[in-house]
Amino acid sequence: MKWTKTLIQTLRENPQDAEIDSHKLLVRASLVRKVAGGLYAYLPLGMRVLKKIQAVIRDEMDKTGALETSMPIMQPGELWRQTGRWETMGANMFKVKDRAERDMALSPTAEEETTDVVKGLVNSYRQLPLTVYQINWKFRDETRPRFGLMRSKEFLMKDAYSFDLDADGLDRNYWTMYHAYERIFARCGLKAVPVQADGGDMGDSLTHEFHVLADAGEDGIAFCGNCGYAANLEAAVGNGKEFSDCDSSIASCIEESKNLPTEVATPGAKTIAQVAAFMGLEANRFVKSLVYVYEGTGNLLRQGYGGRDGEQGTVLVCVPGDRDVNEVKLKHFLGAKTLALADNATVLAATGANAGFVGPVNPADANLRIVADVALKGATGRIVGANKDDCHLKNVDLARDAKIAESDYADITIVKAGDKCPHCGRELVIKRGIEVGQVFKLGTKYSAALGAVVKTDDLKERVMVMGCYGIGVSRTLQAIIEQSHDKDGIIWPASVAPYQVAIELLDPSVAEVAAVAEKLEAELEAAGIDVIVDDREERPGVKFKDADLIGFPVRVVVGAKGLANGGVEVKRRDEDKSRTRILPPADAAGAIKELLK
Ligand code: ATP
Ligand code: MG
Repeated sequence: MKWTKTLIQTLRENPQDAEIDSHKLLVRASLVRKVAGGLYAYLPLGMRVLKKIQAVIRDEMDKTGALETSMPIMQPGELWRQTGRWETMGANMFKVKDRAERDMALSPTAEEETTDVVKGLVNSYRQLPLTVYQINWKFRDETRPRFGLMRSKEFLMKDAYSFDLDADGLDRNYWTMYHAYERIFARCGLKAVPVQADGGDMGDSLTHEFHVLADAGEDGIAFCGNCGYAANLEAAVGNGKEFSDCDSSIASCIEESKNLPTEVATPGAKTIAQVAAFMGLEANRFVKSLVYVYEGTGNLLRQGYGGRDGEQGTVLVCVPGDRDVNEVKLKHFLGAKTLALADNATVLAATGANAGFVGPVNPADANLRIVADVALKGATGRIVGANKDDCHLKNVDLARDAKIAESDYADITIVKAGDKCPHCGRELVIKRGIEVGQVFKLGTKYSAALGAVVKTDDLKERVMVMGCYGIGVSRTLQAIIEQSHDKDGIIWPASVAPYQVAIELLDPSVAEVAAVAEKLEAELEAAGIDVIVDDREERPGVKFKDADLIGFPVRVVVGAKGLANGGVEVKRRDEDKSRTRILPPADAAGAIKELLK
């Protein structure tokens, strides 16, 4: 392929809205162009990479026996109503109406639709196990579309759905997909690590996310270097330790706890940092108290606090002063479908004070439910908000002074670096990750709601047991760049590079040079290698810069001077200039094939 026929237009300047390297390089290397916030046009180069990633995915999916399908991107709202997700997807789902005023959704995912189609095709258990997949565009009206293709409103997703008769079947399918994902990312030249993730509403379904570790990642992941525990911070469990006293100053805590709570004036000191500085104490001596409102799901499976469906609840949440609330864990604990910090009026009515001065001792609403982190169980000598503006209470013994039910102590904080691994007790480290894929045991959540059943031999009906498996194809493309680039540009793994070899034609008007380039291009293409020949009337420096920016794995320089000196120059993108090989033209194709292996 000749460069002048490819519509490649590299840019010198970074796009203004690009915060991370991969986003800058995507645009500068002419892979995509922004159309509007969160919406991108894939240019020919970008399309080539996207198609190669898809080919890897298709190949691995097909090898597992999964069957490729294609569901409509526009889906009837009615199906989403049947599973309750028309409401719970909220503003993330693009909702439209057809001319008959029927509700439609632009597919953010396709559990409902796929289950409904499979239900119509499968009626005997003998047709199971079955896995179907598709690769198509998905739409999500993200609160903060950003980082280019990483979080866009329209993105390419591979989604697969497995159907089984029982939990054992699902387990087999789950691990089949898990291992297929390992191979897919490896074949794309990507290091993606599986980490335990939050199992959604039920909280206890098995699920793993595949993460590409990168500072630009939006997710925090806790890792144990000893036993291999790896979990998204949303799901990472604390080690369940109950601190009876502050770690740092046990003696003074015990001493102070003999006294009764005493008010301390703390004017204007609202945050833990402010009040800790004001009192000259460490943050872990304080209790951070926040008022949340939530809506129950009626899900009693988790901790027995589902409440009635849709029931509103207000709760005071207490965690150690040096910790943050993990809202995902809290939501599961409460059996809540929505959870948010309460507004001023609610805080005031529940506690008698404004945010910053609320606490677990004698709130205005004597029946206010208090949920506390397990690390506060038995805590003494603490300082808490006094439920009175500009005031805190010291010498607080939570068991003595606050009304917290035994069953309302739970693991509800975000794990921090240095915390103990829940499995082996060694220290955890926290890294950032980009979620490129997820495997998820759904169970019967969708099949039950949509009546997807099969008949067994004794003609009994059994609800199919499902799993779902997603890969963000366009996000994967950008994650490869984020993981594999340097100051000059992208370094594509050969398997997904837009072209594997760039021939830099330095003197196109010299017949011998053009002939050598032509022959090499033909030889490489015959070997199944994608080649681009930079035939532009540009200075060598410009061509080399562009080749580095786009990141073709191998660069070959064909010029009059080089040929006079013995041959063509061959260099891998990930090698230093000093490694350049001068090869006789006849040997070049063979050597390049080796370099691409
Ligand atoms: P996130 O937590 O990043 O919002 P998710 O867990 O909601 O993603 P899934 O429903 O698991 O996403 O979708 C499957 C895959 O689709 C994700 O693993 C991710 O790679 C990709 N993906 C999800 N949302 C987006 C988006 N807005 N832009 C690009 N890719 C996305
Ligand atoms: Mg996910």
